[in-house]
Amino acid sequence: MTSPLEPKPGFDWTRVRWTGPLAAVDDTCSYCGSAIPDKHVPLRMWNSTSWAAVFCYACMETWWGMTSLADDDDSEPDEGESDVDHEADGDLDFEQDDDDPEADDDGDGL
Ligand SMILES: [Zn+2]
Repeated sequence: MTSPLEPKPGFDWTRVRWTGPLAAVDDTCSYCGSAIPDKHVPLRMWNSTSWAAVFCYACMETWWGMTSLADDDDSEPDEGESDVDHEADGDLDFEQDDDDPEADDDGDGL
């Protein structure tokens, strides 16, 4: 069974603490054992025998390359969001030619 998700090199599958199909998935990371906060949505994975594993955000980032885990708090200010500043470089400068009625005149003041 090939998972669509490939861990980064160095990932040790033998470290994964798989949880049996009848056991509730616990709220500690199956890899590093750190507690997963309630509001976090850990990466869940099932192996071919339906055993489950969960990965905390740190492991998701470290081993699965998931960096879009930006949460509201206690996340380090990494790289931030790249805000594109819309500078006015593409300004279309159309010259509004003000044709004054004087210039449009015939000239002869008759
Ligand atoms: Zn972890």
